[in-house]
Amino acid sequence: MSFTDLNLDEQLLRAIQACGFTSPSDIQKQAIPVALEGHDLMASAQTGTGKTAAFVLPALQRLLNNEPAPGHGPRVLILTPTRELATQVTDAIRDLGKFSRLRSTTVVGGMPYPPQIKMLRQPLDLLVATPGRLIDHFESGRLDFGRLEMLVLDEADRMLDMGFVDDVERIAAALPEQRQTLLFSATLEGEVRNVARRLLKEPQRIQIAGVKTNHDSIDQHIHQADDFRHKQALLAHHLGQEAVSQAIVFTATKRGADDLAKQLREQGHRSAALHGDMSQGARRRTVEQMRRGQCRVLVATDVAARGIDIKGLSHVFNFDLPMAAEDYIHRIGRTGRGGASGTALSLVGPQEWDKVARIEKLTGCKLNRLVLDGLEPRQPEPKPFAQRGKGGRPGGYGQKRRFGGNNKPGGGNGRKPTIHHKRPAVGGRPRSAGNGQG
Ligand code: AMP
Repeated sequence: MSFTDLNLDEQLLRAIQACGFTSPSDIQKQAIPVALEGHDLMASAQTGTGKTAAFVLPALQRLLNNEPAPGHGPRVLILTPTRELATQVTDAIRDLGKFSRLRSTTVVGGMPYPPQIKMLRQPLDLLVATPGRLIDHFESGRLDFGRLEMLVLDEADRMLDMGFVDDVERIAAALPEQRQTLLFSATLEGEVRNVARRLLKEPQRIQIAGVKTNHDSIDQHIHQADDFRHKQALLAHHLGQEAVSQAIVFTATKRGADDLAKQLREQGHRSAALHGDMSQGARRRTVEQMRRGQCRVLVATDVAARGIDIKGLSHVFNFDLPMAAEDYIHRIGRTGRGGASGTALSLVGPQEWDKVARIEKLTGCKLNRLVLDGLEPRQPEPKPFAQRGKGGRPGGYGQKRRFGGNNKPGGGNGRKPTIHHKRPAVGGRPRSAGNGQG
């Protein structure tokens, strides 16, 4: 199937071509026809599948097809959980709508109100917003939803995780009943399903390649780390490898991101932090630096990195593992995009093995254990909490892959390492233990 089979207007096809998209992705093939027929839709598709264009294209097409009703309020409203994702959707609208003369604007938190207020006074076709700021504008009477035709909920699961459920429902309640609603989410179960039941009308369901098949292009590994300093040494080793062209390192806290980015700069890496305490301008500049290759290592928290799309990112490091296994999926999905291969490496502290177990359960695949010469863990791998007291380890736990040596268990077994390690460039690490995760 090609884009021309999708019944899109000429100006959209030209824009698609200008974007360099040669054929529609799976989610686009499935979602666009359903959306163009006017059905409500709930689709499970993760970032990296082309889901943004899967709703932006039918939204634009709808706006081109229909005469605008009188009024000046938005005709399409797209809600996203974070500012970064909103920016990415806005960019997609700009690119795919560039021959279509439609007006769009973005209202997100963390940005000054006056320019947003000014934009909202003007006639508007598409509005991209995060729920909190949208509610502010709505409650101040600055939004007229009278001619709204379509609502899109992007990364709905994430929006609910972030506590936006009431905001989303209040916004939806203020919209015309007659609208079309499209919901995109990594999962369609649980709370997302409940919300969908309330907000969507007889939706068609689309399920795109689940978690298990989605990350074939990503090599996933873990390192057992004794403590914070061990993690630092492991990270330093990997960042010293040429194979790491550009990387995101995830930390659990904003402070951790700042500290680690600073340390990496001190070690000579072009590194910057990205987190929610930074102004929107600073975040945007940082992402731009990364896109232009001026920055090599981005140290980020989950929320800030959500939806970020940097082409050619070779590695994702989890300096801290995320609380939710779903976030692990989102994190590693930053690499291995658009047919490229990628590597995800997680550093697992003594308290983090339950998270590993949850991730392995969710992804259905066992993560490779890596050990580096000179940076071996001091302890055997702990059992995940759920396994403790049951006697014996679950099959395969503790089985490690070892590189760089030749007389080690598991060495010389004919298995080829998927990534190559040399001896640590930083000369190992002090054996005096640091304490905790800083
Ligand atoms: P998304 O899943 O929406 O975050 O998109 C992931 C990346 O794929 C973005 O860089 C898009 O520009 C790109 N993309 C979207 N659709 C296509 C397509 N049909 N062909 C090639 N790249 C695409």
